[in-house]
Amino acid sequence: MNAELPDILSWRKGSSAQPVDWEKLRNDFPILQRQVNGHPLAYLDNAASAQKPWQVKEAEQALYDQYYANVHRGVHTLSQEGTNAFEEARAWVASFINAPEKEEVIFTKGTTDGINLLAYTFGLDYLKPGDEILLTGMEHHANIVPWQLAARRTGAVIKVVPVLDNGTLDLESFDKLLSEKTKLLSMVWVSNSLGTINPVDYMVPKAKSLGVPVLLDAAQAAPHMAIDVQALDIDFLVFSAHKVIGPTGFGVLYGKRSWLDMLPPFMGGGDMIDQVRFEETTFNALPHKFEAGTPHISGAIGFCAALKYLAQIGMDRVAAREQELGELCRTKLREAFPKLRFIGEATERVAVVSFLLGEAHPYDVGFILDKEGVAVRTGHHCCQPLMDRFRVPGTVRASFAFYNTKSEIDQLIAALAKAQKMLLP
Ligand code: PMP
Repeated sequence: MNAELPDILSWRKGSSAQPVDWEKLRNDFPILQRQVNGHPLAYLDNAASAQKPWQVKEAEQALYDQYYANVHRGVHTLSQEGTNAFEEARAWVASFINAPEKEEVIFTKGTTDGINLLAYTFGLDYLKPGDEILLTGMEHHANIVPWQLAARRTGAVIKVVPVLDNGTLDLESFDKLLSEKTKLLSMVWVSNSLGTINPVDYMVPKAKSLGVPVLLDAAQAAPHMAIDVQALDIDFLVFSAHKVIGPTGFGVLYGKRSWLDMLPPFMGGGDMIDQVRFEETTFNALPHKFEAGTPHISGAIGFCAALKYLAQIGMDRVAAREQELGELCRTKLREAFPKLRFIGEATERVAVVSFLLGEAHPYDVGFILDKEGVAVRTGHHCCQPLMDRFRVPGTVRASFAFYNTKSEIDQLIAALAKAQKMLLP
């Protein structure tokens, strides 16, 4: 791999030895300066999508202003420069997740797209009637529905690892559910609704010992931690750039070469072919085999800038900062609101705080918070089976990024006090 790219340790520690000035860094995110309903914006909806620093937009602007052309096709200078930048992004992603080869990094539209790619290739080609796909009870719909569609067409069966009251997985059940019938373990690494960090260090080796391939949904892990696909020994991993301070409509599927070489293509079209004849078509080498059509060029360029930004800070510092904010938020909520009930209290967790305020409906709470400039998520968070499990219609979810502040937590508490006054007896 390119010697200039950070290695896994540098990703953790960051390239800048200077302590991070978290307040100053907020200036890189112009949107954080705006007012909402007459209040400073407190953006606490980062698990849905993160804000972007100007460096990401500047990188995309430079592409369009200076070297925009289609990639992988032209011999002319602009196309060459565009292709180089596009492939540089792939090398940066490979470095970010410690993939052994950059060809194992497939660019997608996002997490959903990556899982569907696998459901339509691995799913349709490798699943037979009675085979089992093992999911968990805290999956996002994006990691349920594609497998249901594949199961419907192949006769495979979906099994689900239950969730305990504290928002962790029932590992005893996991041990029992994992069997020689299991043909795939596809699971969320970090829950978007609960904040739980699932024990992949326990679960992945268990699956691998039975020869079961593993797909990790890292949509909520990638924004918060350095990822090492080699140490985890997983077969597939997916995430979305927009949650990692990068552009929308862009994402990553990592797959082990042995799998990606074996799987059939997903979409057909330009770029993914070797030779096309009406009688027969042969396919391009990795990663192009899975990247039909003109890709999201600006997405790759913008995401590369996002990764360079994070590499300076270091993911350990990102994680520590967010951890501090998340735990402070939980403590202050607990102190201020005796009627507040957390949904998800795993000890291993990221700064995603899901709760209900007495009997108040989450939407009503969210509406009042918005009037106070506080942006939180309300609803089922695309995890309806999990909401059913907790017998709630949804939750209020405050989710933090490294650019959030302690005063935003105070703003949340003050706004919630108003909501409580208006909504609870
Ligand atoms: N999985 C998880 C855990 C998520 O949080 C999300 C986004 N909320 C997704 C999958 C889907 O991501 P996207 O909409 O970017 O494809």
